[in-house]
Amino acid sequence: MENLLVLTHGDETGSALTKASLEAVTAGRELAARLGASLTIGIVAADAAAAAGILASTGARLLAVSGEAFAQPRYTSDAAACEALCRAAAATIVLAPGSSRFTRVAAGVAHRLGGFIDTHITALGGTDAVEATRWFYRQRVEAVLSRDARPWFLLLDAGTHAAFAGEPAAASVEQIAVELPALRTTVTGIHAPKQDAQTIRPDAKLLLVAGAGWTKKQADGQIHAEEAGDLILGFLRAASASLGSSKSLVDQRGEDQPVLPFLTHLNQIGQTGATPRHAKGLSTCCHGEEPHVVGWRFIADRRAISLDPNCGWTRGKADVVYIADAFQVMARVNALLGAGAAK
Ligand SMILES: Cc1cc2nc3c(=O)[nH]c(=O)nc-3n(C[C@H](O)[C@H](O)[C@H](O)COP(=O)(O)OP(=O)(O)OC[C@H]3O[C@@H](n4cnc5c(N)ncnc54)[C@H](O)[C@@H]3O)c2cc1C
Repeated sequence: MENLLVLTHGDETGSALTKASLEAVTAGRELAARLGASLTIGIVAADAAAAAGILASTGARLLAVSGEAFAQPRYTSDAAACEALCRAAAATIVLAPGSSRFTRVAAGVAHRLGGFIDTHITALGGTDAVEATRWFYRQRVEAVLSRDARPWFLLLDAGTHAAFAGEPAAASVEQIAVELPALRTTVTGIHAPKQDAQTIRPDAKLLLVAGAGWTKKQADGQIHAEEAGDLILGFLRAASASLGSSKSLVDQRGEDQPVLPFLTHLNQIGQTGATPRHAKGLSTCCHGEEPHVVGWRFIADRRAISLDPNCGWTRGKADVVYIADAFQVMARVNALLGAGAAK
């Protein structure tokens, strides 16, 4: 019989769990029900008792490591906390969100426990044994893994499960004591770009993709890169969308051509870029070539605006294609959304 442990951690408030943690809880509940296994949920947070409230209705055993030392991500304290939770639960299967906080420590914790780890898990199956699914080779090959090694750590990709949403109630939480080694790292604060300067938003419902057409000569023979930037940023703000790009557009930075200054290679979608997960995607001024569209594998509803009626999107790669000028369409869309000036 497996002992299933879901590791979770607090968000920046320290008293609530992150969305990715709640997704792992859903995955853990489903797997425990299928295997008929016991479920324990471990919490690492400054105020774990408060964070545990939302888990009261899971019926799982709740363990926590809490206190100021666990408010901020830090290898030493997080690894010690996760190790203590795994030992207290006598876990054989450990599910954890593939967040930057846990991705950093999970392999080390697995090693301390003599276990094994697999990352980027997108689905869990099996009734007699655990079967974990992940993609290889730029999302082209899907593999189903099973292992005899225990404990087996599985880091789950964000967006692959619904976030658990229970009625908050008083929860009974067992505090697990952790003896911390000397802490050499002091977290003094976080320097992060302002929310609206951050254009990559994995949790957004909509992905807007900008292609190289935005910086090409338009019908009047002129380039309108500044207007393009305003339209794109205005839409991102109004729709809280995430911004992706084609390779051609981000490559222009190194080729002395007009650029959109807020784009980097991190925005690139495709074979040599990212494969994000969003409910909807809108491609603009992009030709929809295969090396780009392969990055749209997990976008459920695909739409494109292109001047070219023979572009890749019209060849079965999008659900809806608007053969139109994206400058005009996005200006109208932004007006309908009431988007203010982007600056
Ligand atoms: C090994 C390899 C790996 C690659 N990996 C990637 C990858 O990961 N990601 C990626 O994106 N590409 C990748 N590519 C490149 C890819 O094949 C294409 O070259 C690239 O995606 C083209 O970008 P684009 O569609 O933005 O630009 P273009 O091909 O220049 O297309 C611009 C489009 O904008 C349209 N347009 C212009 N003005 C307007 C307007 N006003 N309104 C509407 N439409 C307009 C034009 O009609 C045109 O269709 C790879 C290529 C190779 C060989």
